[in-house]
Amino acid sequence: MKTDIIKVSENCVSSGDEERLMRAGEILRKGGLVAFPTETVYGLGGDALNPEASVKIYTAKGRPSDNPLIIHINKFADIYQIVKEMPEAAVKVGKAFWPGPLTMILPKAEKVPYETTGGLNTVAVRFPSHPIARKLIEYGGGFVAAPSANASGKPSPTRAKHVVEDMDGRIEMIVDGGEVGIGLESTIIDMTVEPPRILRPGYITQEMLKQVLGEVGEDVTMMRNDSGEAPRAPGMKYRHYAPSGSLVIVEGEPQQVADYINARAAQDSKAGERTGILGTREQLEQYHADVIKCIGSREEEEAVARNLFAVLREFDEEKVTKIYSESFPAQGLGQAVMNRLLKAAGYCVVKV
Ligand code: AMP
Ligand code: MG
Repeated sequence: MKTDIIKVSENCVSSGDEERLMRAGEILRKGGLVAFPTETVYGLGGDALNPEASVKIYTAKGRPSDNPLIIHINKFADIYQIVKEMPEAAVKVGKAFWPGPLTMILPKAEKVPYETTGGLNTVAVRFPSHPIARKLIEYGGGFVAAPSANASGKPSPTRAKHVVEDMDGRIEMIVDGGEVGIGLESTIIDMTVEPPRILRPGYITQEMLKQVLGEVGEDVTMMRNDSGEAPRAPGMKYRHYAPSGSLVIVEGEPQQVADYINARAAQDSKAGERTGILGTREQLEQYHADVIKCIGSREEEEAVARNLFAVLREFDEEKVTKIYSESFPAQGLGQAVMNRLLKAAGYCVVKV
């Protein structure tokens, strides 16, 4: 299949943008697949109410079919068409954070196919804020299933070129709307349990949700893999966000971390490995390895979140086989960063 790559300005204001997005919407309505930017990461869209389109999404990504898709809407009121019940708490959360980087799990309405929900009786719903995503959802029929547009297991795409790397020839169209703003996938909150529980951390933090809901729980598997429990979001059980090289997170005082990483990288180099270090600007000068990547300043956690997936992909591009990363405090947005980094590392953490 030939993949059409089209450029659309971020706010859909250039001439021809509207027409191009209508064309993209037409593909969705006919059951085809279109990748597009959202404020979190690039999504791989298909008509959520068309079971065949959902099956195509799984095939294009190489995604296990028990890993449900998030349905994206463009109007708050549309949620009532795809959920069976809308608890008062969910209305409150929607009013507080939508449109935005938050996904709610609710009981599914009959018309949502099981192909879209990975066989579950619940459905994940998000109302994104990105102008391109919103127009495309509107033109595409109002209900767009869109997981991250990466090949299953790979870091999520934050730029159109990442989508091209993974999806060229596998889908009908890629909408290039530039670099995304947040860089990590949406926060997922399960509204079917009392108190509501976060299944995946993201830009909307537990602290922010507590201000609206009072009590908010967290899936115990979010930050560790030794609880003996299965993650409540099926997708979180898979190895994810991973670069091709092995990744080790090193935690401790900055000087000790640098000494440890440099010693290990030197050893690896001798053994014929190509070594890489993922560090913050403050510590970068201390490191020695084949490839050293700056993820941003420790002072700017939003930049760290935005750069994480792109930097992991760059290590692949440079054929790095052993990667060492600094660790980050798992609070606020840092919790989402560490959740992705831990999964990318297969929970391999060294404390020095
Ligand atoms: P992605 O689309 O790549 O952001 O992945 C979607 C995430 O949402 C995966 O981790 C899914 O397991 C999770 N998810 C989607 N639908 C549900 C649901 N009904 N219940 C729990 N988790 C869900
Ligand atoms: Mg994903």
